[in-house]
Amino acid sequence: MAKAMKLMVQRDMPQRTLETLSFDNTYARLPQAFYARLNPTPFSEPPYLIHANRSAAELIDLDPEQFERQELAELFGGKALAPGMEPLAMLYSGHQFGVYVPQLGDGRAILLGEATNQRGQRWDLHLKGAGMTPFSRDGDGRAVLRSTIREYLCCAAMQGLGIATTQALCLVGSDDKVYREQIETGAMLVRMAPSHVRFGMFEVFYYRKQHEHLKTLADYVIEQHFSHLRDTGEKYAQFFSEVVERTARLIAQWQAVGWAHGVMNTDNMSILGLTLDYGPYGFMDDYDAGFICNHSDHNGRYAFNQQPYIGLWNLSCLAQALLPLAEKEALKAGLETYQPLFDREYQERMRAKCGLSEAQAGDDELIRDFLGLLQGSHADYSIVFRELGAFSSQNGAVNETLREHFLNRERFDEWAVRYRDRLRGEGSRDDERCTRMNRVNPKYVLRNYLAQATIEKAQHKDFSEIDRLFTALQTPFTEQPGMESYALPPPNWGKHLTVSCSS
Ligand code: AMP
Ligand code: MG
Repeated sequence: MAKAMKLMVQRDMPQRTLETLSFDNTYARLPQAFYARLNPTPFSEPPYLIHANRSAAELIDLDPEQFERQELAELFGGKALAPGMEPLAMLYSGHQFGVYVPQLGDGRAILLGEATNQRGQRWDLHLKGAGMTPFSRDGDGRAVLRSTIREYLCCAAMQGLGIATTQALCLVGSDDKVYREQIETGAMLVRMAPSHVRFGMFEVFYYRKQHEHLKTLADYVIEQHFSHLRDTGEKYAQFFSEVVERTARLIAQWQAVGWAHGVMNTDNMSILGLTLDYGPYGFMDDYDAGFICNHSDHNGRYAFNQQPYIGLWNLSCLAQALLPLAEKEALKAGLETYQPLFDREYQERMRAKCGLSEAQAGDDELIRDFLGLLQGSHADYSIVFRELGAFSSQNGAVNETLREHFLNRERFDEWAVRYRDRLRGEGSRDDERCTRMNRVNPKYVLRNYLAQATIEKAQHKDFSEIDRLFTALQTPFTEQPGMESYALPPPNWGKHLTVSCSS
């Protein structure tokens, strides 16, 4: 009944067209030093819509029928503006691979405007690949089809997994050539988030000693996104503590699904704790704690098992940038909450993946030993956890299908006895536990080879695979007929594909 009511309300909501989208551009009202105003540079070849995300459209009350219009491809291909848009490129700096770079900024993305919906929410519409800006440095301002597909699909995957992320509204292609290691074609992606403010935005004003701007930025972010802190004492330190909490939770969630960002520079860290700026990211196939998804990351700074520490390192950069606004001791106290918050969130997630309802002494060790077994056997992270759901805790059960993933069967058997005893200790029922585990251990993840196969088809103008994969990833915990192939481990050609920053 409640569901039917909700649907009715949604249908009654007036749907907007491209002409009647509503904007409230709060960022454009900040001081001019925060951005550069400019329009997107359209492709020289006609733009065409490749894929659109109906659930993202709902967030801005956009009628999905608008996706049928050529005007939409023109708008999101940088050729036109909708009434109320005030396009600008945001300024920021940041630490890249540990080194401070004094000026970065949106070099190929343009904030078109902040669309508002009837629930009073505001969504940045950010057009990635929109041409050069004053912050482009040596870049061409473009994004290639390959990288926009990767971002588009991974936004859907993260959303489906319940992990905070920017969202992608649509993908627009063109036949314009873009030069990378080889000649590719350009595309634009509309990315949505309540805010695109990054840690690096605070850093730029701190290092330039523009403390007035720093305060304006902090007040703006608090007012817009942490308004419950508006009137609290030590509001900047409180704000920082909340960023610490969101970041710790986000990275714990990445870890639990076996995902690595690949370029965790402070300019790619969202102040709202969203997954932001998808580049050479990767879901692990075979479990490897030292997994490096970014081919350009020669020292493994952003390796899978480094990500939790890098989260803390990045937060310490943000803390430094907030020093003119908050007491050092208060910021330090905020930073010190990171590790316990991370550990708690991570352990909760991992316990859930193992189907353990309550926390007990020895759980960490049980989980760590299981990961050790996976590592030693090069076993597939997502597949094994999904299959763990079918574990039988009956006397004498061998759990043969699961067992086959492990090279050292004896060690697996020893672990299985410990696991069985642990399950029995909390009165776990196999069928009930399996249902619970299937809600946290995804059947479908965006493996690199799946993205790669989709890209190769798209480069030959066959976009059908984008739609199929997008659909599977939207509900990754549910078995979907006809999608079985997406749940398979990579074929030989698809293992260890190299993905670099060049996008
Ligand atoms: P990323 O590593 O993708 O987060 O990008 C780091 C910085 O380089 C940001 O300031 C980007 O806007 C900029 N950038 C990346 N690719 C390009 C490009 N093709 N043209 C201009 N700027 C770029
Ligand atoms: Mg970036």
